[in-house]
Amino acid sequence: MNLIFLGPPGAGKGTHAQLLMNELNIPQISTGDMLRQAMKAGTEMGLSAKRYIEAGELVPDEVVIGIVKDRLQADDCKRGYILDGFPRTVKQAEALSEFAQIDVALNIALDDEVIVKRLSGRRVCLKCGATYHISTLNGKEDCAVCGEKLVQRKDDAPETVQNRLSVYAAQTAPLIDYYQKKGILRTVNCPPAGTVQEVYQLVRETLGLK
Ligand code: AMP
Repeated sequence: MNLIFLGPPGAGKGTHAQLLMNELNIPQISTGDMLRQAMKAGTEMGLSAKRYIEAGELVPDEVVIGIVKDRLQADDCKRGYILDGFPRTVKQAEALSEFAQIDVALNIALDDEVIVKRLSGRRVCLKCGATYHISTLNGKEDCAVCGEKLVQRKDDAPETVQNRLSVYAAQTAPLIDYYQKKGILRTVNCPPAGTVQEVYQLVRETLGLK
């Protein structure tokens, strides 16, 4: 199954994409994680992406389209994949349609108010991509998966979060319509207080998994 996870920042795309990756044994391809890794490694692409990411703006289309096109050539994508955070503009979606056949675009919908609360308490592992919320960490500072020190993403600062939400509304939300018209959109409406497991169950049901 070739999937796209759509939805505003903080809706839980990464969390559910990772759970599904483990269940279906197909890779989660997160452009955000790939860009952050490039930033951490100090590559030319990482350095040029940094200012966009830290301002909550989108990295230019050509850059992310190139990354995804290369990544989808890898052997591990032959049985399917989950695109998490790509496409984010109609131009990216049109480019994607030229080199990939998508089965389902899953839209994870959540209220802005919940998103802001969620992102301000989010802590991430820059090594393996695992994400946590301070309310469940009980003071722990290291990643439970790989032991790396957890950090707050610079773009999770409140003023940047507002910008990311505006960028989402202006540039990414039109993809909901785009995939609706293609007949492959499915939506999961997240209850505001839903646990990860509850929402993941909705994701599974929406995808028709037994
Ligand atoms: P994410 O981890 O998906 O929230 O992405 C973090 C940041 O990386 C975004 O706010 C953008 O600056 C950049 N980014 C990730 N994916 C894309 C994309 N498909 N197009 C443009 N910028 C992206």
